Amino acid sequence: MTDSSPASSSTGDRVREVVRHELVRRDLTVVRVADLTAQIRRVTLAGDELGGFVSLGPEDHVKVFFPSEDGERVMRDYTPAVFREVGESGGPELDLDFVVHGDTGPATAWATAAEPGSTLSIGGPRGSRLAPRGYRRFVLLADASALPALSRWVEAVRFDAEVIAFVQSNDDRILDYPVPTGDRVAITRIATGEAAALTALAGLHLDADTYVWAAGEATALIPVRRRLRRELGLSRDRVKVDGYWKLGVGGLDHHAPLDPEDPED
Ligand SMILES: Cc1cc2nc3c(=O)[nH]c(=O)nc-3n(C[C@H](O)[C@H](O)[C@H](O)COP(=O)(O)OP(=O)(O)OC[C@H]3O[C@@H](n4cnc5c(N)ncnc54)[C@H](O)[C@@H]3O)c2cc1C
Repeated sequence: MTDSSPASSSTGDRVREVVRHELVRRDLTVVRVADLTAQIRRVTLAGDELGGFVSLGPEDHVKVFFPSEDGERVMRDYTPAVFREVGESGGPELDLDFVVHGDTGPATAWATAAEPGSTLSIGGPRGSRLAPRGYRRFVLLADASALPALSRWVEAVRFDAEVIAFVQSNDDRILDYPVPTGDRVAITRIATGEAAALTALAGLHLDADTYVWAAGEATALIPVRRRLRRELGLSRDRVKVDGYWKLGVGGLDHHAPLDPEDPED
């Protein structure tokens, strides 16, 4: 199912290869639900339609289709946290990890009520942007919504590079979330918001061998991106800042520019 004709977004050995996948929609059934932290609920999906599922990049996402109050189906983006070819259910399984942030959004409402036997449709991923090679250090910054992606970043690079990861949450229990470990992996919880993120970055030497990835609440990340790109002058090849949700906005389109004053990305 994978068209592995790579398209590069950079040059040299630090290329981030893109692998495109055939777009497939899958109807799946919940087989298990587990609260990984006080705020994050893991929903394990299974079904024959998971056969051939491929997710190769740390920032991959699937479109998840939810019922809404007016009967229409709405979509939200979720990271394929873990995929197993054969899981406890005897077939392929996909874990999606939902931040349960209240009942005002269709995704959080669905995850709150999910139980074995519930059904869910997903589409994608359409493509995978692989982790870059050739960097000696990765600096990762994520809030709870981006913790599944952060975990996938750590998994992808921990044997080749040093990882300095910051998890933004005001609750220590966020560190209950299972992130892969390693001799050169350091994970620190910091408070939410731009001030804590900027303070964490200020303590680092972001040299040319460092790749920086940050994702979470979009508005708080604007000053983070400005610091990295404008003030420190890091090239776009080695910085990715992605708004995963936006305070007060339902169904944020993360392809829209994070910073309207500086839309290039
Ligand atoms: C590439 C990508 C991957 C993502 N992966 C994940 C993932 O693996 N797990 C995950 O939980 N989320 C993930 N997200 C974020 C998720 O898509 C959004 O949080 C989404 O808006 C949730 O939909 P909803 O229906 O619950 O709320 P919406 O209807 O979108 O929003 C309703 C209200 O809830 C608020 N809200 C939305 N999300 C949050 C939040 N996380 N915390 C606090 N308030 C919020 C909004 O500001 C709004 O006021 C990802 C986003 C992207 C772009």
